Amino acid sequence: MAHLALSQLAFSAPVGGDLSLRRSAFKASNLNSQDKLWAPVITLNLKSNHSRLRNRHVTCMSVQQASASKVAVSPLGLEDATEPPLNLHKPKEPYTATIVSVERLVGPKAPGETCHIVIDHGGNVPYWEGQSYGVIPPGENPKKPGAPHNVRLYSIASTRYGDFFDGKTASLCVRRAVYYDPETGKEDPSKNGVCSNFLCNSKPGDKIQVTGPSGKIMLLPENDPNATHIMIATGTGVAPYRGYLRRMFMESVPTYKFGGLAWLFLGVANTDSLLYDDEFSKYAKDYPENFRYDRALSREQKNKKGGKMYVQDKIEEYSDEIFKLLDNGAHIYFCGLKGMMPGIQETLKRVAEESGFSWEEKLSQLKKNKQWHVEVY
Ligand code: FAD
Repeated sequence: MAHLALSQLAFSAPVGGDLSLRRSAFKASNLNSQDKLWAPVITLNLKSNHSRLRNRHVTCMSVQQASASKVAVSPLGLEDATEPPLNLHKPKEPYTATIVSVERLVGPKAPGETCHIVIDHGGNVPYWEGQSYGVIPPGENPKKPGAPHNVRLYSIASTRYGDFFDGKTASLCVRRAVYYDPETGKEDPSKNGVCSNFLCNSKPGDKIQVTGPSGKIMLLPENDPNATHIMIATGTGVAPYRGYLRRMFMESVPTYKFGGLAWLFLGVANTDSLLYDDEFSKYAKDYPENFRYDRALSREQKNKKGGKMYVQDKIEEYSDEIFKLLDNGAHIYFCGLKGMMPGIQETLKRVAEESGFSWEEKLSQLKKNKQWHVEVY
């Protein structure tokens, strides 16, 4: 069995790259003593600059078998629930979790820094894809002396199984908030964002206070695995979609078999700012019928008018298809900075009017049908 599992695992690298296996103690209860000699501990050696999994040892404790391109994971028991877990840990009684890893996701030419942060919650803060964690950074609230900082929310960037497929971790995609003095143009560290810097500076083993999980707006419609999902993100807004896409294309779970279409529009500044590009490119290669991936690189690409290419310009390029998909019941999701919405809504309104229908009516219909999902911050 162990040899079978190992040979199957050899075909199941979650993301592109070299895969090697090594022996070590393995305590899975469903393996016999002989099996325990062969540890399904996978070392992923990825070549890309953007990969947050480079050289990480991934212990696939819950991996039972793997198909050619997916990692088979054991259900956690959450699958039978009809409602997602909500606010299991409140701000007054946060859960003390542990940082597993912090990795820079972006290349040297990206403006700013974005990190992939894996948090060990020991199975005590379960969540569904599309939910958020709250984080209470250490220190005192500057507005309420003696009180802790306010909770900051972060979209969860992993599936409910976490990046190690054992249901014990959650991953966040965090952009460091840096303050630049508008007059001097210099960084003023005293005004840098408290929580994002705490998270991006943290080290494996550090403790972190988490609350939640929270949010229902960005949940995938569990009862319709053949739905169409149009996912629009700027920057870290891609976080919930990484969770969706891993669920759809990386994991094999008996209770969720995706047979629909997922279409990701990701807007960032330049190639170096792309987030999780290796994973998404791999899905596009492996599942061309089920996944489309369009990037808008504002500082590298030009829109049809010769201006910067923003995510709304990509949406406009495919607006006929998008409207048809929406008419057929597609879900559309928006996640990222608040500032992305006006430009996108103006584009959708203009395109709708050029095609002779009212955007206001269309929008109210989408909202009524629960096809419209917005989480901007
Ligand atoms: P804060 O300390 O709260 O400061 C906020 C801003 O004010 C910073 O830009 C800071 O530089 C500036 N500032 C501080 N002091 C001053 C001053 N004296 N004068 C002027 N400016 C000042 N973020 C992500 O990175 N990834 C996510 O996936 C994500 N998901 C989210 C999901 C939801 C539902 C919501 C609501 C928000 C999400 N956010 C996400 C945003 C996140 O919650 C935080 O708001 C963000 O990280 C900034 O928090 P901070 O503590 O670092 O900054």
